[in-house]
Amino acid sequence: MSTVILVGETDGNGIKDVSQQVAGVAAGMGEVVGLVIGKNVSESAMKLAAGKVIIADDERLEYYDPVKYASIVSQVVQKNDATKVLMGATTMGKDLGPRVAAELGWGYLGDCLEASSEGFVRPDFAGKVLARSKPEGPLVASIRNNAYPIGESWSGSVENFSGDIPDSTLNTTSIEKIGAGTIELTEANIVVSGGRGLESPENYEALIRPLAATMGAAAGASRAIVDAGWVPHSHQVGQTGKTVTPDLYLAIGISGAIQHLGGMSGSKFIAAINKDPEAPIFKVADYGIVGDLFETVPVLKTKLEKL
Ligand SMILES: Cc1cc2nc3c(=O)[nH]c(=O)nc-3n(C[C@H](O)[C@H](O)[C@H](O)COP(=O)(O)OP(=O)(O)OC[C@H]3O[C@@H](n4cnc5c(N)ncnc54)[C@H](O)[C@@H]3O)c2cc1C
Repeated sequence: MSTVILVGETDGNGIKDVSQQVAGVAAGMGEVVGLVIGKNVSESAMKLAAGKVIIADDERLEYYDPVKYASIVSQVVQKNDATKVLMGATTMGKDLGPRVAAELGWGYLGDCLEASSEGFVRPDFAGKVLARSKPEGPLVASIRNNAYPIGESWSGSVENFSGDIPDSTLNTTSIEKIGAGTIELTEANIVVSGGRGLESPENYEALIRPLAATMGAAAGASRAIVDAGWVPHSHQVGQTGKTVTPDLYLAIGISGAIQHLGGMSGSKFIAAINKDPEAPIFKVADYGIVGDLFETVPVLKTKLEKL
């Protein structure tokens, strides 16, 4: 039976949901060996759903470092004779995956929507086409958040990583969160995004962020308002921004240009508020309110607060 290395990630609360989703996928492909890298990650790592979990817990691994992390994954692959490496298509996974594939001389499939021993499906051209692949050799793949349900939290045997942690010329001394709030856009279950219909950055702060907070959502944006300097690029959803696949995507004052749709049309449910009934966003929306956002958003927020 082939061995699959599952690279798990932690956040302040434990193992990330996306890692447990990938664990379920990995289980169908072979014997799963989990690998969690970081500082003070041991307790969380033990919850990764894998038959065996290897933990690389070291203060030199506090922040993601491509040289160190890729080397550790490669060492674990070789020691376990693995033929596949799977991880979430997170900010880290999207960077680490190709590096590990290059280091091992393996194939790489990024941002997969489907993954099984039958093959892999991933979007191309901003989601306009789906590419199906049946790899014939060893492979590294990243799987998109929410593509699969969260697996159960459990782990089998636990082992400490005993290989080398190489030196790196990169030296991250601190990480300051300037993103879309406490919830990372690409991992959020709900995303509330605002566009040019909001008319000003003050209205984004007054309407989008409070509504997002009420819904436990991450706050996103169209490129129009990022280019206008209302919010940082870290908020941008779309072809030249982030790809999100939440359970619910709420687009407020966003027209639904093809480049925006490319980043959010994989969401499970899409809802839109727009005063123009012909706005293209309504073509992809499951639910829509044709109306003035300045009237509907405060009402929506008040109703949600009462739930
Ligand atoms: C190469 C390239 C890459 C791009 N990448 C991206 C990308 O990654 N992400 C992205 O978003 N865009 C991207 N764009 C830009 C994209 O084409 C659009 O210009 C942009 O998405 C429009 O943003 P918007 O919907 O906020 O603004 P608009 O298109 O101006 O839409 C504003 C909407 O608000 C509605 N509205 C106005 N007032 C109200 C009100 N009071 N109540 C309710 N609704 C109201 C209007 O009816 C309208 O539909 C890209 C473009 C190019 C060329």
